[in-house]
Amino acid sequence: MKVVLTVPHAKESSNLKQDEKYHLHDKKAKIFAEFLYKNFKNYTECFLLVGYVNRSQCDLNRITCYSTFRNQLNTILTTNNLKKNILLDIHSFPSKENQDYEIYFIITKYDFKSIYFANKLLANLNNKNIKTGILEGKNSVNYIIHKGYEYNYISILIEIRENLSRERIKYISEIIFYFIYKMST
Ligand SMILES: [Zn+2]
Repeated sequence: MKVVLTVPHAKESSNLKQDEKYHLHDKKAKIFAEFLYKNFKNYTECFLLVGYVNRSQCDLNRITCYSTFRNQLNTILTTNNLKKNILLDIHSFPSKENQDYEIYFIITKYDFKSIYFANKLLANLNNKNIKTGILEGKNSVNYIIHKGYEYNYISILIEIRENLSRERIKYISEIIFYFIYKMST
Protein backbone atom coordinates (compact mmCIF):
# COMPACT_ATOMS: atom_id res chain seq x y z
CA MET A 1 0.00 0.00 0.00
CA LYS A 2 1.16 3.47 -0.84
CA VAL A 3 -0.07 6.42 1.24
CA VAL A 4 0.06 9.92 -0.22
CA LEU A 5 -0.56 12.90 2.07
CA THR A 6 -0.97 16.39 0.62
CA VAL A 7 -1.25 19.76 2.38
CA PRO A 8 -1.90 22.31 -0.39
CA HIS A 9 -2.81 25.27 1.83
CA ALA A 10 0.09 25.11 4.27
CA LYS A 11 1.68 28.43 3.39
CA GLU A 12 0.90 31.60 5.33
CA SER A 13 0.87 34.86 3.45
CA SER A 14 2.70 37.94 4.68
CA ASN A 15 -0.70 39.45 5.42
CA LEU A 16 -2.11 37.39 8.29
CA LYS A 17 -5.33 39.40 8.45
CA GLN A 18 -6.04 38.53 4.85
CA ASP A 19 -5.27 34.86 5.58
CA GLU A 20 -7.85 34.98 8.34
CA LYS A 21 -10.52 36.86 6.43
CA TYR A 22 -10.47 34.72 3.28
CA HIS A 23 -9.18 31.55 4.88
CA LEU A 24 -6.11 31.45 2.66
CA HIS A 25 -4.09 29.27 5.02
CA ASP A 26 -5.04 25.99 6.75
CA LYS A 27 -3.57 26.56 10.19
CA LYS A 28 -3.72 23.01 11.58
CA ALA A 29 -3.44 20.92 8.44
CA LYS A 30 0.32 20.51 8.47
CA ILE A 31 0.61 19.26 12.05
CA PHE A 32 -2.23 16.82 11.42
CA ALA A 33 -0.52 15.52 8.26
CA GLU A 34 2.80 15.19 10.08
CA PHE A 35 1.25 13.02 12.79
CA LEU A 36 -0.16 10.75 10.10
CA TYR A 37 3.11 10.69 8.22
CA LYS A 38 5.12 9.68 11.31
CA ASN A 39 2.92 6.64 11.81
CA PHE A 40 2.61 5.55 8.20
CA LYS A 41 6.25 5.86 7.24
CA ASN A 42 7.23 3.21 9.79
CA TYR A 43 5.31 0.56 8.00
CA THR A 44 4.60 1.46 4.41
CA GLU A 45 5.63 3.64 1.51
CA CYS A 46 4.40 7.12 2.41
CA PHE A 47 4.77 10.56 0.82
CA LEU A 48 4.07 13.94 2.36
CA LEU A 49 3.67 16.79 -0.10
CA VAL A 50 3.39 20.24 1.49
CA GLY A 51 2.36 23.34 -0.45
CA TYR A 52 4.74 26.29 -0.58
CA VAL A 53 2.61 29.03 -2.12
CA ASN A 54 -0.16 30.94 -0.41
CA ARG A 55 -3.66 30.37 -1.73
CA SER A 56 -3.93 34.05 -2.71
CA GLN A 57 -1.18 33.54 -5.30
CA CYS A 58 -2.15 30.14 -6.58
CA ASP A 59 -4.57 27.57 -5.16
CA LEU A 60 -2.77 24.25 -5.41
CA ASN A 61 -6.08 22.44 -5.20
CA ARG A 62 -7.39 23.98 -8.45
CA ILE A 63 -6.70 22.89 -12.00
CA THR A 64 -5.70 26.41 -13.05
CA CYS A 65 -2.70 26.49 -10.72
CA TYR A 66 0.34 25.24 -12.64
CA SER A 67 3.15 24.40 -10.28
CA THR A 68 5.94 22.01 -9.45
CA PHE A 69 3.65 20.78 -6.63
CA ARG A 70 1.39 19.39 -9.33
CA ASN A 71 4.30 17.73 -11.16
CA GLN A 72 5.48 16.16 -7.93
CA LEU A 73 1.99 14.88 -7.20
CA ASN A 74 1.67 13.38 -10.68
CA THR A 75 5.04 11.67 -10.36
CA ILE A 76 4.12 10.16 -7.00
CA LEU A 77 0.73 8.99 -8.23
CA THR A 78 1.93 7.53 -11.54
CA THR A 79 4.69 5.38 -10.08
CA ASN A 80 1.91 3.08 -9.09
CA ASN A 81 1.61 -0.55 -8.15
CA LEU A 82 -1.32 -2.91 -8.05
CA LYS A 83 -1.84 -2.71 -4.32
CA LYS A 84 -4.49 -0.68 -2.59
CA ASN A 85 -3.31 2.93 -2.45
CA ILE A 86 -4.66 5.88 -0.53
CA LEU A 87 -4.49 9.62 -0.97
CA LEU A 88 -5.47 11.86 1.96
CA ASP A 89 -5.65 15.54 1.06
CA ILE A 90 -5.38 17.36 4.38
CA HIS A 91 -7.00 20.74 5.18
CA SER A 92 -8.30 22.59 8.22
CA PHE A 93 -11.36 24.75 8.70
CA PRO A 94 -12.03 27.79 10.92
CA SER A 95 -13.73 26.92 14.19
CA LYS A 96 -16.73 29.15 13.51
CA GLU A 97 -17.75 27.03 10.51
CA ASN A 98 -19.35 23.59 10.88
CA GLN A 99 -19.45 23.56 14.68
CA ASP A 100 -21.05 20.13 14.50
CA TYR A 101 -17.86 18.47 13.37
CA GLU A 102 -14.34 18.03 14.59
CA ILE A 103 -13.45 16.50 11.28
CA TYR A 104 -15.22 16.01 7.98
CA PHE A 105 -14.54 14.47 4.59
CA ILE A 106 -15.15 15.61 1.05
CA ILE A 107 -15.23 13.02 -1.73
CA THR A 108 -15.52 13.15 -5.50
CA LYS A 109 -19.21 12.59 -6.24
CA TYR A 110 -18.96 9.54 -8.52
CA ASP A 111 -15.95 7.95 -6.80
CA PHE A 112 -17.79 5.05 -5.20
CA LYS A 113 -14.71 3.31 -3.87
CA SER A 114 -13.72 6.41 -1.88
CA ILE A 115 -17.29 7.04 -0.73
CA TYR A 116 -17.43 3.50 0.65
CA PHE A 117 -14.11 4.01 2.42
CA ALA A 118 -15.15 7.40 3.86
CA ASN A 119 -18.36 5.95 5.28
CA LYS A 120 -16.49 3.12 6.99
CA LEU A 121 -13.96 5.56 8.43
CA LEU A 122 -16.74 7.88 9.55
CA ALA A 123 -18.45 5.06 11.45
CA ASN A 124 -15.16 4.15 13.07
CA LEU A 125 -14.48 7.71 14.24
CA ASN A 126 -18.05 8.28 15.43
CA ASN A 127 -17.78 5.08 17.49
CA LYS A 128 -14.90 6.69 19.32
CA ASN A 129 -16.93 9.84 19.94
CA ILE A 130 -15.14 11.91 17.36
CA LYS A 131 -17.71 14.13 15.68
CA THR A 132 -17.30 13.32 12.01
CA GLY A 133 -19.21 14.21 8.86
CA ILE A 134 -19.19 13.83 5.11
CA LEU A 135 -19.98 16.91 3.05
CA GLU A 136 -20.51 17.39 -0.65
CA GLY A 137 -17.72 19.12 -2.51
CA LYS A 138 -18.31 22.69 -3.63
CA ASN A 139 -18.90 23.60 -7.27
CA SER A 140 -15.25 23.87 -8.14
CA VAL A 141 -13.35 20.64 -8.66
CA ASN A 142 -10.94 19.59 -5.94
CA TYR A 143 -7.95 18.95 -8.14
CA ILE A 144 -5.96 16.73 -5.79
CA ILE A 145 -8.58 14.13 -4.87
CA HIS A 146 -9.75 14.13 -8.47
CA LYS A 147 -6.21 13.24 -9.60
CA GLY A 148 -6.11 10.47 -7.02
CA TYR A 149 -9.38 9.15 -8.40
CA GLU A 150 -7.96 9.14 -11.94
CA TYR A 151 -5.06 7.02 -10.74
CA ASN A 152 -7.39 4.64 -8.95
CA TYR A 153 -6.46 5.68 -5.42
CA ILE A 154 -8.90 5.81 -2.57
CA SER A 155 -8.97 9.62 -2.38
CA ILE A 156 -10.56 11.76 0.27
CA LEU A 157 -10.21 15.35 1.34
CA ILE A 158 -10.05 15.71 5.12
CA GLU A 159 -10.87 18.92 6.99
CA ILE A 160 -9.92 19.20 10.66
CA ARG A 161 -11.30 21.92 12.94
CA GLU A 162 -8.73 24.53 13.83
CA ASN A 163 -9.53 24.98 17.51
CA LEU A 164 -8.79 21.37 18.43
CA SER A 165 -5.86 20.86 20.75
CA ARG A 166 -2.64 19.28 19.54
CA GLU A 167 -3.43 16.20 21.67
CA ARG A 168 -6.87 15.83 20.12
CA ILE A 169 -5.44 16.14 16.61
CA LYS A 170 -2.81 13.54 17.46
CA TYR A 171 -5.47 11.22 18.87
CA ILE A 172 -7.65 11.55 15.75
CA SER A 173 -4.63 10.95 13.50
CA GLU A 174 -3.91 7.72 15.37
CA ILE A 175 -7.45 6.43 14.96
CA ILE A 176 -7.25 7.10 11.21
CA PHE A 177 -3.85 5.46 10.99
CA TYR A 178 -4.99 2.29 12.75
CA PHE A 179 -8.13 2.10 10.66
CA ILE A 180 -6.15 2.20 7.41
CA TYR A 181 -3.45 -0.07 8.78
CA LYS A 182 -6.00 -2.72 9.73
CA MET A 183 -7.74 -2.39 6.40
CA SER A 184 -4.51 -3.03 4.51
CA THR A 185 -3.48 -6.16 6.43
ZN1 LIG B 1 -7.58 24.01 2.49
